[in-house]
Amino acid sequence: MLHETGIILKPDDLGRIVIPKKLRRELGIDSGQRVELLYDPEARLVALRAWEPGCVICGSREQLVQVKTRFVCRGCLSEGLGSKMSTVEYRNFPVFDMR
Ligand SMILES: [Zn+2]
Repeated sequence: MLHETGIILKPDDLGRIVIPKKLRRELGIDSGQRVELLYDPEARLVALRAWEPGCVICGSREQLVQVKTRFVCRGCLSEGLGSKMSTVEYRNFPVFDMR
């Protein structure tokens, strides 16, 4: 559920706004951390939240490999590609690093 904050922000010439420190702290958004924008076109509403990648198949946040714009864990990757790809090949996929 969304709550009104009473905070009114004015985007600069590039459309940037600053998320107030208090809200960043409450959302667990640290400097450099990725933020996901959510959009509801019917309500003309944008929301954001701290973003953490997860495997699109099992939801795991461990050993993630980026495939185009999505993430898959090594376990699901090896199950899905096991017959088409050798263990050595999938081990060489770069693992996404949140740091
Ligand atoms: Zn998985």
